[in-house]
Amino acid sequence: MTSITSTPEKEQIIVLDTTLRDGEQAPGATMNLEEKLQIAEMLDEMRVDVIEGGYPAASEGDYAAVHAIAKQTKNAAVCGLSRATHNDIDRCAEAVRPARRGRISTFISTSPIHMKWKLQMEEEQVYELVIAQVTRARTHIDDVEWCSEDATRSDYEFLCRCIEAAIKAGASTINLADTVGYCMPEEYAAMVRMARERVPNSDKATFSVHCHNDLGMAVSNSLAGICAGARQVECTINGIGERAGNASLEEVVMAINVRNDVLPYRTNIETQMLARASKLVSEATSFPVQYNKAIVGRNAFAHEAGIHQDGMLKNAQTYEIMNPESVGAERTSFVMGKHSGRRAFARKVEELGYPHSEPALEYAFLQFKALADRKKHISDDDIRSLVAAELARR
Ligand code: MN
Repeated sequence: MTSITSTPEKEQIIVLDTTLRDGEQAPGATMNLEEKLQIAEMLDEMRVDVIEGGYPAASEGDYAAVHAIAKQTKNAAVCGLSRATHNDIDRCAEAVRPARRGRISTFISTSPIHMKWKLQMEEEQVYELVIAQVTRARTHIDDVEWCSEDATRSDYEFLCRCIEAAIKAGASTINLADTVGYCMPEEYAAMVRMARERVPNSDKATFSVHCHNDLGMAVSNSLAGICAGARQVECTINGIGERAGNASLEEVVMAINVRNDVLPYRTNIETQMLARASKLVSEATSFPVQYNKAIVGRNAFAHEAGIHQDGMLKNAQTYEIMNPESVGAERTSFVMGKHSGRRAFARKVEELGYPHSEPALEYAFLQFKALADRKKHISDDDIRSLVAAELARR
């Protein structure tokens, strides 16, 4: 008899970034080769485990990008996506061949609605293709990921048969996609748990989550899937991707970091690079980052309300659950606006290098409040001219 003392082991979560594949499929997000190489280099430096570089059979440009990324990448595995055809898979294998660690990710839909309308195939045809696609990919490379597209709307009995067949044919990663962003966290977790329990050879593969954000659940679903035993998460910088986008890498990683008490996992991500990564992807795609975006939005560490600013001046932990420095963001910014209080105003005046004189300061503060009622954005220059005029008057 051995007694097992449970130790809080932090299990490793593999981070697969698909900014350059699913992210680029966002309407209008097309990137050129140079931009893709720059982003891939940054992802590698940030210690993403797998870079999905594109869809080699989709175009010459995609092929060239995946090939070039495979050549330049030093640490991460480089992956290409392919449909369930020999041509797609062979093209993908060619593209990732120069990689130190290459991977083929090959997908097919398993849901009744996709099989009937998109593939126009019966279950058995799809089942045979699953075996054929993984077998073909394995003739090229050892690291093969099989993806069930629209897994969340599939019949679970059939889904489990496909997963078992894919693993038997040599897939070492099984990706269960919530392609249409339809699932709720508890349902998604239940599906991952179900698959791991019901598929007889499930212990021979790593389960992966791939969630879309159509109902704003992509990050929640990804984390729920991880809690249910998935050990790879597919995500993108800034959450870009088809339609409403994918799970955002920075949110998944920082949720694990900040709430490690309830999410006892770890990733290899260098979080101080997150702000830079966000900026680079935003510039390359011309997709702005929403101001209130978690982690990387320009307001993520900005405080305007007087009560908050006062708390922050006393102890940053009053209103911040993580340091801006931990994600490479600029130091906490106090936005001066109509909600700001005296203490924050005094600090701002001091920062701008003006002498501290109580009556002048008080008068300037009242004028500042009046201005802030009329004007949305108060700049440092607005405050400079207010204080300078007040000091000159005295
Ligand atoms: Mn997707």
